[in-house]
Amino acid sequence: MDCIFCKIVAGDIPSTRVYASERLIVIEDINAQAPTHLLVIPKKHYDTIIDCEDDLFMTEALAAVRELTKKYKVDESGFRLVINTNTEGGQTVFHLHMHIIGGRQLTGQMG
Ligand code: 5GP
Ligand code: ZN
Repeated sequence: MDCIFCKIVAGDIPSTRVYASERLIVIEDINAQAPTHLLVIPKKHYDTIIDCEDDLFMTEALAAVRELTKKYKVDESGFRLVINTNTEGGQTVFHLHMHIIGGRQLTGQMG
């Protein structure tokens, strides 16, 4: 499948991987919008959160969020979790992913 995040999961496109578990990887966003900008990406391809029938993905994602926000020291200062979904939701890569954004004062929709 011609999907950039599937290629990142497979290791065919390089990325900075900061966390991995059974169902997901977490990488640094290539175009960071804040000092901390990570992407939680399921290893299995789902176009959107609506297409993901595996609820355990979110359980695992939240475990990653707890660990990584502590590691990046944004757990107490604050951060934002964002899942852009479909066109009007601002999704540009149609392989489900959750943004973890923090490290500066965020304002507005995406900061
Ligand atoms: P979306 O707008 O779909 O919610 O977010 C897609 C995100 O993926 C963007 O923040 C963009 O910077 C990031 N992104 C797109 N291509 C790549 C890539 O090849 N590597 C990495 N690390 N991030 C990417
Ligand atoms: Zn994919």
